[in-house]
Amino acid sequence: MDKKFIPVAEPVFDGNERKYLNDCLDSTWISSNGKYVQAFEKQYADFCGVKYAIACMNGTVAIHLPLVAMGFGTGDEIIVPTFTFVATANCVAYTGATPVFVDCDPNTWNITAEQILKAITPRTKAIIVVDIYGLPVDLDPILQVARERGLFVLEDAAEAHGARYRNQMVGSLGDIGSFSFYGNKIITTGEGGMVTTNNEELASKVRQLRDQGVDGERRYWFPVRGYNYRMTSLQAAIGVAQLERIQSHLSQRRRVNEAYRHRLEGFPQLAFQPEMEGFENSYWMTSVVIDETLPERDWVISQMAKFGIETRPFFHPMHTLPMYENLNTEGSFPVATRIGNRGINLPSSGNLSEGDIDFVCDKLIESLALKA
Ligand SMILES: *Cc1c(COP(=O)(O)O)cnc(C)c1O
Repeated sequence: MDKKFIPVAEPVFDGNERKYLNDCLDSTWISSNGKYVQAFEKQYADFCGVKYAIACMNGTVAIHLPLVAMGFGTGDEIIVPTFTFVATANCVAYTGATPVFVDCDPNTWNITAEQILKAITPRTKAIIVVDIYGLPVDLDPILQVARERGLFVLEDAAEAHGARYRNQMVGSLGDIGSFSFYGNKIITTGEGGMVTTNNEELASKVRQLRDQGVDGERRYWFPVRGYNYRMTSLQAAIGVAQLERIQSHLSQRRRVNEAYRHRLEGFPQLAFQPEMEGFENSYWMTSVVIDETLPERDWVISQMAKFGIETRPFFHPMHTLPMYENLNTEGSFPVATRIGNRGINLPSSGNLSEGDIDFVCDKLIESLALKA
């Protein structure tokens, strides 16, 4: 029998994906002008409880567009967690602004108001928070800091569709939110992104910049330099079908996470993100930080691969990447550095069986030489 391969993440298409895609093809309206883009935007806005949602090419441009809309650029500083996916920092750099990195909390792995306060200077214009692996950031104290100083807050919720902070949907809490629908995210359109906001002026600027900077009233008149960052109707057709079943996708991820916690609860050397009142995780990735008494993370990854189990290392913190390492020479980031070295993402797809999860846990325990 062939060894089974268990990927770290795999999309699940168990709804109307094929039906809507075929409908889109049959209509011949496959560009961004097809009906599914508007439908996806409307339905995603309703899902997040915001007034406006703007679909775009991917989660990266969903961060870039709001920063351009706000006019951030050279000389401005934007606070970014060092522990994030590279797109968050790159989007700041695309505008000419400087990403100022901050460390994260040792338990949640998320950015905190306390760390942000230490990084604010007279040049600070904005804060980007990232709901890491689906756990919402503790946003109330951050919003308070931002309001007192007139700072813009962008929530990079690329990993956190459907997560809730104090009963409110992530992506609806800051000035603007960004989502990704990349193939490994909780719901996917292959590549895709969404910007969410309640601010009408910001929404129309983002829309204009996404559409080449066009003037809505006057054909081929472009008062500002924009981009073509649009989503196709083919992508949106898949998105509408995925969104129809998002509660199922979310509950499957939660089931997978609970099974791991249950199987691994006897091992305090493996740290999960905490479960906290008021913080409803989307469980994009079930991840653990392996403490220093156990073997090296990269060795564990190679052992697991021998059994056909794909696991991933945590993100390398931004301050360690070649293009950013000389930027924040004064900062020290012990937590992000530690978890960047010791963290591992376990297979987290919603379609994993209890047997798959048992197998992954058995092999993890074996690789770590843990004793029950
Ligand atoms: C996936 C991701 C992005 C980028 O999304 P793409 O759709 O791949 O461009 C941005 N930020 C975070 C935190 C992500 O996980």
